[in-house]
Amino acid sequence: MKRRDVIKNLSILPVSGAIIGSTFPFESVLSSTPPAPSAPKQDLFKELGIRTFINAAGTYTAMSGCLMQDEVMDAIRSTSREFAMIDEVQDKVGEKIAALCNAEAATVTAGCWSALVLGTAGVLTGTDPKKVAQLPNLEGMKSEVIVQKAHNQGYVHALTNTGVKIVEIETAEELGKAVNEKTAMMWFLNYAGPDGKIMNEEWVALGKKYKIPTMIDMAADATPVENLWKYNKMGFDLVCVSGGKGLRGPQSAGILMGKKDLIAAARLNAPPRGGNIGRGMKVNKEEILGMYVALEKFVNMDHEKEWKIWEDRVAVIVDSVKKLNGVFFKVTVPPVANHTPTLNISWDSNIVKVTRDEFQNRLRHGNPSIEMIGGKDNSVVITVWMLKPGQEKIVGARLREEFVNASA
Ligand SMILES: *Cc1c(COP(=O)(O)O)cnc(C)c1O
Repeated sequence: MKRRDVIKNLSILPVSGAIIGSTFPFESVLSSTPPAPSAPKQDLFKELGIRTFINAAGTYTAMSGCLMQDEVMDAIRSTSREFAMIDEVQDKVGEKIAALCNAEAATVTAGCWSALVLGTAGVLTGTDPKKVAQLPNLEGMKSEVIVQKAHNQGYVHALTNTGVKIVEIETAEELGKAVNEKTAMMWFLNYAGPDGKIMNEEWVALGKKYKIPTMIDMAADATPVENLWKYNKMGFDLVCVSGGKGLRGPQSAGILMGKKDLIAAARLNAPPRGGNIGRGMKVNKEEILGMYVALEKFVNMDHEKEWKIWEDRVAVIVDSVKKLNGVFFKVTVPPVANHTPTLNISWDSNIVKVTRDEFQNRLRHGNPSIEMIGGKDNSVVITVWMLKPGQEKIVGARLREEFVNASA
């Protein structure tokens, strides 16, 4: 009998049973018993003193993005016990992702940022190994990426990592003038779409007109779910998505999908191959497979039901603050960038005497800790899609409590 079995059996034996005689090493068996399987797991957050919190903010990288779906963790765990060739994992997963998203091909990258770098690199190098080895030195390659002024934000650094220069334009006419033999790509930042002069469909049409590949960054736009195939169908040559935001896959994974030749070229710039600019953007097999499971689950999820859950949670929070004097609320749905019901709560500082930062701090350092985003003036912005079921009640109650305290 194994020790654990001994213990299990001991508990059902009468104390005066024949087996438990004075010769049986009862004490020593007990003292060397391994912890029962139901013993609490190690709590690393507690052990290291790391603050955990209710995330009423959203899918922010600094806040660790999202909580992975259970199926993703199951996939990570179950695939961690065997070896597999990374290229084979990427081939098989890529086919599945491409089929789910109506793309010619796809590959899992180390986040959307990595998809931007590797996709751009692929456009520049094609499948020429000499060019792959040469990046970010662009001698003999194209070297410019055209971007609308409103889209020319921090994320372009992913593109310039490859050595390219950003050429800023505003109108279709300016774009026509900017195109030259050095133009490698035209990049579109989905969330900046409404702020630019050229919309996505026209951008694609212009790319086709000038025979320049187009790329879209739709990192935080996995909702509505149709976006996952919409931009492929629209004709973007490359589409980049975050895995660890609305998709609730691994935080360090993302998807690059699009034209077959460009995906193949991008993969030459990525691990498991070395001697390229993507070598540091490794994704392990568990994350590649976890990314696939997250996407599949997300695509097949009942999105109407999910939306209703989000609306109900918002309603719970609204209910707990709406009758408070000097407190106002507004629910909106951003058309792009985190398309989910978004609650803006503001207050009249003559009645509710607290600054926005102090208010956020009180919630952050309360029990339980709650994170939300600071809005304009005296306001906070809340999304509920990263809440665990029931947390909306805690968020509502804490908001109410702090508003009441500040109004006294
Ligand atoms: C989050 C984000 C990225 C980076 O994506 P990761 O998956 O975190 O690498 C790029 N572009 C935009 C617009 C984003 O919101």
